Amino acid sequence: MSRTETTEQETAMTKHVPAPPAPLIDADSIGFWEATREGRLALCRCTDCGTWLPRPLERCNRCAGPTEFADVAGTGTVYSHIVVHHPSVPAFASLVPYVVALVEFDEGPRLPGILLGESGADIAVGQRVAAELTLFPGAEERAVTYRRLPGGTESGR
Ligand SMILES: [Zn+2]
Repeated sequence: MSRTETTEQETAMTKHVPAPPAPLIDADSIGFWEATREGRLALCRCTDCGTWLPRPLERCNRCAGPTEFADVAGTGTVYSHIVVHHPSVPAFASLVPYVVALVEFDEGPRLPGILLGESGADIAVGQRVAAELTLFPGAEERAVTYRRLPGGTESGR
């Protein structure tokens, strides 16, 4: 009997992974989240002059034209990164040490995300990465994460 209880307890413990922090979805970012729900990564771009905006805006900050969420290729480079050693986000505690990278997409905008499968020892600024949409256990929305691409860093950075 005690053996069964222990097994049930262990099962309950391993299943009880807290959900990651939920994103704040507002009128400006809803288009981004609608795209991720369809498995697409889309960022804000001016439909008049084509400028990619660093953050979603209703109007282009260059020409005041209307904006839309347009799909990006999903590739970019590491602009900055940190290595997380302390499991301060309970949902990601099992991942430590892990890398949070600020990635500059080839289109220009930058987004942070976890660089999956890396502990940080050899990640450098300029590392080429590809974005993925990852549904972490317990999460309601897919998160932008990254994977290292072969070929090391981009020159001239
Ligand atoms: Zn514009």
